[in-house]
Amino acid sequence: ATLSPGLDVAALCENAREMVAHEAPLYEQLRPRSKDMFANRAPGFYDQVPQHWMRDWPMPFPFAVAGASGSTLTDIDGNTLVDFCLGDTGAMFGHAPRPIVEALSKSGTRGLTTMLPSGEVAEVGKLLTDRFGPFVFQIATTASDANRFAIRVARAVTGRNKILVFDGCYHGAVDETLVDLEDGQTVARKNLLGQVVDVTTTTVSIPFNDIDALKTALEAGDIAVVLAEPVMTNCGMILPDEGYLTALRDLTRAAGTLLHIDETHTISTGLGGYTAVHGLDPDIFVVGKPVGGGVPVAIWGMSQKVAKALSDIRAKMSGIGHSGIGTTLSGSTLQIACLRACLSEVMTAEAYATMNRHADRLEQGFTDAIRAAGLPWHVSRVGARLEIVFSADPVRNAAEARAAAIDDIQHALHIGVLNQGYLVTPFHNMVLVAPTTTDAQVEGLLSAYENVLTRLVTRKG
Ligand code: PMP
Repeated sequence: ATLSPGLDVAALCENAREMVAHEAPLYEQLRPRSKDMFANRAPGFYDQVPQHWMRDWPMPFPFAVAGASGSTLTDIDGNTLVDFCLGDTGAMFGHAPRPIVEALSKSGTRGLTTMLPSGEVAEVGKLLTDRFGPFVFQIATTASDANRFAIRVARAVTGRNKILVFDGCYHGAVDETLVDLEDGQTVARKNLLGQVVDVTTTTVSIPFNDIDALKTALEAGDIAVVLAEPVMTNCGMILPDEGYLTALRDLTRAAGTLLHIDETHTISTGLGGYTAVHGLDPDIFVVGKPVGGGVPVAIWGMSQKVAKALSDIRAKMSGIGHSGIGTTLSGSTLQIACLRACLSEVMTAEAYATMNRHADRLEQGFTDAIRAAGLPWHVSRVGARLEIVFSADPVRNAAEARAAAIDDIQHALHIGVLNQGYLVTPFHNMVLVAPTTTDAQVEGLLSAYENVLTRLVTRKG
């Protein structure tokens, strides 16, 4: 990919750092209570936050949320923000959709978890296959868990040890997927904590969009499963080349390797996710995050063939015991009720139509704003999810995406739009649209971006 021809990146970065130096105190001034809270006043939490990486947002300190509804967030200092982060997809259909709140309240009167299937299971099974295809499903509580369980099944039914992932992937807290590709070698990801098993003995990482690398990796016949997002979304947004996903399907099938599609982010594509919209035919299908409308639920589906192979293996086992699959609260009355509400009333064709209409406008508006600022960049998009990529051409793999990323500029754009009242995802400023997003909010975000891009190119250099 051609990065930024003719662009003085060093000068832009200097402007970006100046912008951050100007914006950070404004952010702080508006948030005395959040500042106080994180200045070591929540001592019961490590680093004063429920998860340590909540500190990794590109602001001086994270703000504490007082409430969230539809596409709006309010912080404990009374600031209101339009939310285009949406909990990094967990709230993709807006915060606290009414049918989910009703399901929660109904569950509250019927009990929340029993370790038994609830009476809604048959209806939800039909909703799942109607929406996502002819898989047989199991429930997990997070996408990380769903991916882990599915990998276990893939190994069991193929009798193979290795898995293959794409460089730059993220599939959750799944040890074996936390690898990178360095100089053609699979290596453990740099910041992985407490890892004692050498994941490179069982995981192969290759570049996305490289059919030859895929062929070579599959040739040995020892890969149980390829775990993939159909559009990579966790290392910038990397679209598949024309025909690449067909080749991926054909080559995996020929090699006796299963294809596991993780739709946790690409569910933004449209109804049924990228798989349904583009007619993919995976052996394993996973969606987490928004599938319960914001309540922790994930689904993992197997093709009939994989399910049959699993049953054959289990039939030969004696007695009952730990399979390594499942957690106590998964498949609870509460989760099934929220799945039912989400699939039938929230994750609808109408919702996607609104989201994609807004995303069309944002794609055009971002492109216009980039051009108006004289920047040679482009917009990458999968349905309701978009981001500005700092390169002239689309990036085709993680190495190109890493080369295009410019942290100083990401940081400046993030805090620049935040101080104008718009929250985008901290990592590569991903923008996600909800059905609750309004035309005015879309126009507001575009104006905020026009403002920061103009300042970026004119501020100084
Ligand atoms: N799969 C993908 C594609 C993801 O992006 C993520 C999280 N960003 C996960 C799985 C893991 O989701 P969770 O953290 O909810 O387990």
